[in-house]
Amino acid sequence: MRYEFAPDLQVRMEEIVIALQMSHIELTRVKCFRSKGSSTKRTLARCHTIGKLMQKAMGTEAFYTIEFLERFEKLPIDEQDKVIIHELLHIPKTFGGGFRQHDFVCEENVEIMHEKFMNLRKKEG
Ligand SMILES: [Zn+2]
Repeated sequence: MRYEFAPDLQVRMEEIVIALQMSHIELTRVKCFRSKGSSTKRTLARCHTIGKLMQKAMGTEAFYTIEFLERFEKLPIDEQDKVIIHELLHIPKTFGGGFRQHDFVCEENVEIMHEKFMNLRKKEG
């Protein structure tokens, strides 16, 4: 596996967080990376974090990474935005190093957030 910081996706992720007012997300503690060489064919992206014990042991706060796999690049831009929203929804309100599960991070909630994002974007012109 090879990982590379993705400044373009970082900017898009930050725009989404700000537009949708996901104020629990600490932008300085979420970083977007592209990965190459994964054998999983179906995965588009995934969210990583460090657990509570590791945070305590390392004397650090929670940190999240969103990894975008090669297949992500082939999606149309709207679908890419939905994937970004999906991954952001995995980050809980506590920003504590856990995840919200797929009962909450579901197609329906992603669609609602995406529509909101599109409408906000339209208003801005
Ligand atoms: Zn998910």
